[in-house]
Amino acid sequence: MVTSPPISADTNAFLEREHRHFINGEWITPHSQVSFTTLDPAREVEIASLPAGNSEDIDEAVSAARSVFASGIWRTQAPSAKESIMVRIAQVLETRADMFSELEVLDNGMVMDPIAKWAPLTAARIFRYYAGWCDKISGRTLPINGSPSRSMSDVVPTIIRQPIGVAGQIIPWNYPLAMAAMKIAPALAAGCSVVMKPAELASLSTLALGDVFAEAGLPPGTINIVTGLGHEAGAALSQHMDVDKIAFTGSTQVGKEITRAATGNLKRVSLELGGKSPFIVFPDADLDVAVERAHFSSLHLSGQNCMCSSRIYLHQDIADAFTEKLVASFKNTQVGSGFENGSRIGPLISAKQLERVNSYVRGAEQQGAQILTGGNKIRREGYFYEPTIIYGANQNMTCVQEEIFGPVTTIQTFEDADEAFSKANDSVYGLVASIWTNDLSIANRGIQEIRSGTVTINHHGLLDFTVPIGGLKQSGWGRENGPDGLDLYLEDKTVAFV
Ligand code: NAP
Ligand code: MG
Repeated sequence: MVTSPPISADTNAFLEREHRHFINGEWITPHSQVSFTTLDPAREVEIASLPAGNSEDIDEAVSAARSVFASGIWRTQAPSAKESIMVRIAQVLETRADMFSELEVLDNGMVMDPIAKWAPLTAARIFRYYAGWCDKISGRTLPINGSPSRSMSDVVPTIIRQPIGVAGQIIPWNYPLAMAAMKIAPALAAGCSVVMKPAELASLSTLALGDVFAEAGLPPGTINIVTGLGHEAGAALSQHMDVDKIAFTGSTQVGKEITRAATGNLKRVSLELGGKSPFIVFPDADLDVAVERAHFSSLHLSGQNCMCSSRIYLHQDIADAFTEKLVASFKNTQVGSGFENGSRIGPLISAKQLERVNSYVRGAEQQGAQILTGGNKIRREGYFYEPTIIYGANQNMTCVQEEIFGPVTTIQTFEDADEAFSKANDSVYGLVASIWTNDLSIANRGIQEIRSGTVTINHHGLLDFTVPIGGLKQSGWGRENGPDGLDLYLEDKTVAFV
């Protein structure tokens, strides 16, 4: 195995294992004989071979999760016992933080400092946060009304909340460990059991959680992890008749396929999908701060980030000044391997993604837009692309309408707030929007009018595990994080003693 980057003995040992599925608390030999490889996108080098789980592997994992759920071994544990185990998961994650960070850099390509360093610590905090919810899940009582029967007038209808059952969870490759924690932790707090399928392009950090769960004393079968391809393992999970809920983060197109697959047993579906997030700057904004944040939110994770500020709208009075500063900051961005000191952005995840990003940029040129900076693959090993600004695009262009998922943003101008908000809403997506102004009336109008799950003033996006995030329109269904994230794993039941 080629491991030339500076990685620890623990990471090496993990990479060199024969990888298997984590089912029923053990590393299980797969039913499927097929495997797939995962690459380090900075070096185009294979780092591990993983089993491509098939429907039998998914059946085995679902059956383990169902047995645990039916037995009540996790579901009926005292909240304080659940909380202790979840805190223990956080502690074990923290003690293995270096390995998890290194796996994220190797498998996903993200930069070590600060993103990958942050990943296991954030994942641990997510487990601690939801651990605190275990003893705070409560129902409601409601007054009864209008019963013709006098004997009913004393009844106190009560709504109790129970775990939804077996949850299937499917995540993308762009923030693997944090995504896994954001899904697994609320499911555990609610009392569910889980089958997780990570993304084929970056499964390693999620798979490594198996050891953490075992060491923390989570009952075997509560969380099961099956690696594999979306159209096979993912499809088997989303259509499985014994899965009660599917939680998906990924593209809008696959979200629709999963929703269709879920209709067989009408399992509950929550979706965190794509985005094409507007970043709207008015003339009174602090331009230096806005430029700095536009730089960050357009290029974070090489733009492979659902909240990416991929459509920048500038008031015509400040368009030239803002653009000049943003171009300068894009040009100054150090692109390199996540292990290299000073790298601000790493490679794209794959050769396919590199081609896709480049084809959007070439398409923008052909449609008449101007490339102010970037616009090319970087000539070195790895899937690196230059930070790119497309200027003078119009609303109908593909680069404005479709999610590029690369270090590419478009700049357009507007004359007034009506035009800005109408352009912002001219998208099938509605995940995140930001408005840069100190004018409260413009800010308040934007908050009301922009159709987006999050609208922030003088900041772009708000990713914090305590605060709900989710999309309107084709950006998704439901909200993850915060108390809303827990709701996705609970069902209401009405009870009454008469
Ligand atoms: P993707 O292609 O939709 O894949 C996501 C996951 O779904 C992967 O595990 C994938 O497996 C699996 N999958 C693919 N086809 C499937 C099928 N037919 N049935 C069941 N599962 C299937 O997305 P991606 O390229 O990994 O991630 C990028 C997308 O995620 C972007 O659109 C981005 O905006 C979105 N995203 C959204 C959020 C949010 O919070 N709203 C956060 C992050 C990312 P394979 O890996 O084998 O294909
Ligand atoms: Mg990889």
